[in-house]
Amino acid sequence: MTSLVIQTAFLGDVVLTTPLLEALAGRHGPVDVVTTPAAAPLLETHPAVRQVIPYDKKGRDRGLGGLFRLARTLRAERYEWAYLPHRSLRTALAAWIARIPRRVGFHDGWRWLYTDVRSRATESHEIDRLLALAGADTRLARPSLHITIADTAATEGFLREHGIGADFIALAPGSIWGSKRWPYYRELAERLAGNGAIVVVGGPEDAGLAQDIVKAVEGGGGRWRAASGCGTLTLRQSAEVIRRAAVLVTNDSAPLHFAQAVDTPTVAIFGSTVPAFGFGPRGPRDQVVGLDGLPCRPCSAHGPPSCPLGHHRCMRSLTVEDVLHAIEETGALRRRD
Ligand code: SF4
Repeated sequence: MTSLVIQTAFLGDVVLTTPLLEALAGRHGPVDVVTTPAAAPLLETHPAVRQVIPYDKKGRDRGLGGLFRLARTLRAERYEWAYLPHRSLRTALAAWIARIPRRVGFHDGWRWLYTDVRSRATESHEIDRLLALAGADTRLARPSLHITIADTAATEGFLREHGIGADFIALAPGSIWGSKRWPYYRELAERLAGNGAIVVVGGPEDAGLAQDIVKAVEGGGGRWRAASGCGTLTLRQSAEVIRRAAVLVTNDSAPLHFAQAVDTPTVAIFGSTVPAFGFGPRGPRDQVVGLDGLPCRPCSAHGPPSCPLGHHRCMRSLTVEDVLHAIEETGALRRRD
């Protein structure tokens, strides 16, 4: 009996759902997952997943036509159980229209469309909250990603092509939410360059920022190496870059969760959001940088596109020195001396 999980939220949310997929797969075998086309490559190699069903909710499948098409596909599979971690009316409706007999969702979602309602804990990590959907209690579970031999070979080729050796630091300066972007990655990269090469990871939308960082590092007399994989590396290749890095410095965004999945020490910079929302790093060496005592912080669940007060003090007050200190605290660079 194959179970279905519908998770069409952001990339980071999909990564955080992998412990739930593993818990379900441990009971009845690999599960099917509906997710966005962007997130599909993160799951299609995962051993807890039988098949990924892409749902392009903002493109080809948008609107009622796409919703009914998805429901028809799901109905044909005759699932017994559907797990609905995302608080989305669209996906709850799809499972209901598909007449999946058991539909499990959270109390703060669309209760009238679920047959089994679980309460969503407010104070635990998102991974544990999602595991509660399956009634599993796996404290300190970590997400996982499965990188193929081809991904590894492509990543090695990318690093070789850019003259990056074994010792490098990964930076992920992007976030779709402007208020979650720390503005001093370029200055940080210049300070870090003497410790090893710099590799910037992110999506195509981060390519301009990444090029600024690369130029700043390589402009230092050509002594230091830097490369950008933004928009050129796939998601799994980016995860492989992060896996090989000594440490990742990131905002509260998807690469943070990639690093958790591949067990790389992480420095996570939080601005308008806080780790108490349940999306912080949980490795023993990981560090969080954030400004305590700012009355306006946190200002929204996801982080607004820009600071509603205009000053963006939650991020602007965090200095390069603060982040360097956090990197030092991970021990990741010390260990390589
Ligand atoms: S309102 Fe405060 S917490 Fe929100 S973005 Fe602005 S400075 Fe940061």
